[in-house]
Amino acid sequence: MSDQRNPAQTGEHDVINPATEALVRRIEQPDLERTDEAIDRAEAAGPAWRAVAPADRGRLLRRFSEVVDAHLEELAQLEVSNSGHTIGNARWEAGNVRDVLNYYSAAPERLFGRQIPVAGGLDVTFKEPLGTVGIIVPWNFPMPIAGWGFAPALAAGNTVVLKPAELTPLTAIRLGELAVEAGIPESVFTVIAGKGSVVGERFVTHPAVRKICFTGSTAVGQRIMRGAADQVKRITLELGGKSANVIFDDADIEAAAAAAPMSFLDNAGQDCCARSRILVQRNVFDRFMELFEQAVKSVVVGDPTQDVTQMGPLISPGQREAVRSYVENSTEPVDVAFLGAAPAGAGFWYPATVVLARGTSERVWREEVFGPVVAVLPFEDEADAIAKANDSDYGLSGSIWTRDVGRALRVSRGIQAGNLSVNSHSSVRYSTPFGGFKQSGIGRELGPDALDAFTDVKNVFISTS
Ligand code: NAD
Repeated sequence: MSDQRNPAQTGEHDVINPATEALVRRIEQPDLERTDEAIDRAEAAGPAWRAVAPADRGRLLRRFSEVVDAHLEELAQLEVSNSGHTIGNARWEAGNVRDVLNYYSAAPERLFGRQIPVAGGLDVTFKEPLGTVGIIVPWNFPMPIAGWGFAPALAAGNTVVLKPAELTPLTAIRLGELAVEAGIPESVFTVIAGKGSVVGERFVTHPAVRKICFTGSTAVGQRIMRGAADQVKRITLELGGKSANVIFDDADIEAAAAAAPMSFLDNAGQDCCARSRILVQRNVFDRFMELFEQAVKSVVVGDPTQDVTQMGPLISPGQREAVRSYVENSTEPVDVAFLGAAPAGAGFWYPATVVLARGTSERVWREEVFGPVVAVLPFEDEADAIAKANDSDYGLSGSIWTRDVGRALRVSRGIQAGNLSVNSHSSVRYSTPFGGFKQSGIGRELGPDALDAFTDVKNVFISTS
C-alpha cells in the first residue's frame, strides 16, 4: 500500500519535471511517527505473509508482474515526467520490474534447504525470511532498483518497507498501489515516500527492520553501515562506480567507438555503471578519438518523450552544478577534447563532455561525476591497462574490447570489479548477479543467489535414536 493515500502533514516536496522545470506533483512527507506506524504495520503483516503457501506466494508475485505489465506505458510516462528518462529507457525500466517479479515468482517453491549427513539423526536446513526489510532507493533508476529489492525480498517471505528518493517518488508510489491491486495483502509491501534523514534513518534505527537494502552514494552507504552495526542489522550496499572501458589495439575499433557514447551517456550519465573512464591502447588512440567524436556528436539529445531521443536532462539543478564542478567550474585545469549537443532553455541540460585526462590523479578521472562526462587516457600494454583500471576506490563494472579471447579472460580476471562485459557494455540482467567490489558495495542483487541476501539459514537436527 502506498502511504500517499493517507499522508502525514509534516512537510511537502515538489516533484519537478527535469526536462521542462514544470511542477508535476506535490508530495506530502511523513514524519517519524508515520514512519514508525508503517513499519509496525509491515511487521504485523509478517506472520500471515510468511504463512502463505509457497505456490500461492509465487502466484501472487506473478499476478503483480502481470499488473505491472498492464500498466507499463503509464509507469513509463510517469518516469519520463518525474525523472526525465527517455521514453525508450523508461519502458525498459517498467518492463524490468515486470520481469524481475516474474523471475522471483518461481523462488518461493524453490527456496531449497539441504539435508546434511550426520550421525544419530536427520539434519536439515531451512532458508528463513528475515522479517521486515527496508529498501532505500536512489533517484537515478527509481523503478528497476526498487524491483531488485522488493521482488526477491517478498518472494523469500519478508515484508517490505520501501523509501524512494525524494526527487523521484512517483513510480514507486504507483507500484505500491499496483501491488495491492494484484492481491498482495495490505502492508506486505509499503512505499513510504519521505526524506532520507527521516524515513531512511528510521529504517536503520528501528529494531523491527531486520535488513537494509541500500542503493545510493558511498557516503550515505557508509553511514548506514555504521548505524546497522548497533543492531547487527543485515545490509546490502550498492554504491558508486567509476568504471573503465578498456580498448585494446586488436579490437574492432569502429565497433568500440560506436558503442562508447551510450556507455557513459545513457540516463545522461547518471548511472552507477557508466563507463566514465576510457582507456585506449596508445597506438590506436588517435583513430579511436576520431571515430568517437563523430559518434558522440550524433547522439540525439532532447525531449525525452520522443522515441528517437537517446539522452535527456540531468535530474536537478543541483546535479547540474555538481557536474559543472568537474568541468568549467573545476579547481583543476581540465582539457576538454570536444562536446556533444544540449538544448537551450528550460530543463537541466548538460552536453556530453569528453575530457583528455593527464594522468590518474585528477578529480575527473577518480571521482564519480554522475553526469555525461567521460575522461580518456592512453595505456601501453595489458599490464598497464589492468593497473590503471584498478587504480580506483570503486569496482562496480567495466568493459574490455579485444578480439583475443585469452586476453579478454585474463583482463576480466585481472580487473577488480563485480560486472564485466567483453565487446559490449551490458551490466545488468535480472538472471545474473549484480554488485560491486571495493567501495562500490557489499553483497549481490539479482540472479539465483539474491534470495540468500533476504534469508537466514536455520539448521535443525532431528534425533532418530
Ligand atoms: P544518495 O545516497 O544521496 O541517496 C540514496 C537514497 O538514500 C535516497 O533515497 C535518500 O533519500 C536516502 N538517504 C539519504 N540520506 C540517508 C540517511 N542518512 N539514511 C538513510 N537513507 C538516506 O544517492 P543519490 O544521490 O540518490 O543516488 C546517486 C548515487 O547512487 C550515486 O553515487 C550512484 O553511483 C549510486 N547508485 C549505485 C547503484 C549501484 O547499484 N551500485 C545504482 C544506482 C545508483
